Amino acid sequence: MAKIYFAEDGDLDILKDKTISVLGYGNQGAAQAHNLRDSGVEVVVGNTRDASFEKAIADGFAAYNVAEAVKRSDIHLLLVPDEVMPQMFKQDVAPNLVPGQAIVIASGYNITYGFLKYPASVDVLMIAPRMIGTGVRSGYISGKGFPSLVSVHQNATGGAKALMLALSKGIGTLMGGAVESNCDEETLCDLFNEHFGYVYALRRAYEVLVEAGASPEAALLEFWASGEEMELARVHMTHGLFHQLNLHSQTSQYGQEVTGRLTAGEEIVERDRLRRIISNIKDGVFAKDWALEQLSAFPVWHRVRRDNMAHPLIAEEERLLRLLGVLERDSEP
Ligand code: NDP
Repeated sequence: MAKIYFAEDGDLDILKDKTISVLGYGNQGAAQAHNLRDSGVEVVVGNTRDASFEKAIADGFAAYNVAEAVKRSDIHLLLVPDEVMPQMFKQDVAPNLVPGQAIVIASGYNITYGFLKYPASVDVLMIAPRMIGTGVRSGYISGKGFPSLVSVHQNATGGAKALMLALSKGIGTLMGGAVESNCDEETLCDLFNEHFGYVYALRRAYEVLVEAGASPEAALLEFWASGEEMELARVHMTHGLFHQLNLHSQTSQYGQEVTGRLTAGEEIVERDRLRRIISNIKDGVFAKDWALEQLSAFPVWHRVRRDNMAHPLIAEEERLLRLLGVLERDSEP
């Protein structure tokens, strides 16, 4: 069993007299900055001078460019997108680090694939929320917290673990339970979840249902437009994957448990597919493909996105979500 840390494992006194720079004031950065400030910790924000920077100022934080924020602080939370982190780190963070300081990542990606070139003289910590930024903030405010995967990747000072737990407490994750992990495990779990094909599985089911004569509206409501999925996700968490089946009709339970199984042959094919995804993550194939995409301005991704956005589902979905009054975005992403 992995070790799980709770509130009593972290001591906020360790952060007394320390200043923390939150580098990147986006989804995670804004939420973590607020939580740390509300925990009584001194926070400065580092960001490029744009809308996020102005938001940090409007939210009452002292904001600087990244290099200046690093110079003014002792512990540095790297909360910029993973794609820009190595370059930002090389250019603005590393030259201003002082031995004995700490850097903190919210994703193992750049460490797993060796993209982040950090010195041996600083602690390297991971606090990776299993939660989007809005949930990081609302979990803190509600007192329920949110779970994270945490680890000490490099213990240069000898005090890295106590520091990691103090920061975890300040960010609010110890209220929800922080699971001892490591960068490679975090990267594997995170990428596997993203790669196993959730959106395509839903779209495929929608297509087949419409092909079988269901109206697009009925198919959309069946799979995601009704909000039932949110309630299902909640009971998966509160009851457990198979215990939650008791909340469904017996016909539904039989269908899900018995009819929904793959045949032995299909099971082998599906497991082979999933293992190929794992291999591509572990062997660095995905990381290499993604790095090449970034270097060449995303040719594959943008083509696939264009195809996906041209699918008839998109217009049907927009019409229905508008009619139901639940659409929250203003325009296409
Ligand atoms: P966002 O894209 O939401 O925010 C990134 C922030 O960094 C923005 O404020 C952006 O400014 C700023 N930024 C971008 N480039 C630079 C740069 N070169 N120098 C300074 N600031 C810059 O990122 P996330 O919060 O989603 O992700 C941050 C980290 O958290 C990543 O490591 C991610 O993997 C991890 N994470 C994210 C989760 C999530 O739910 N989003 C969950 C768990 C972990 P601007 O807006 O102006 O571009």
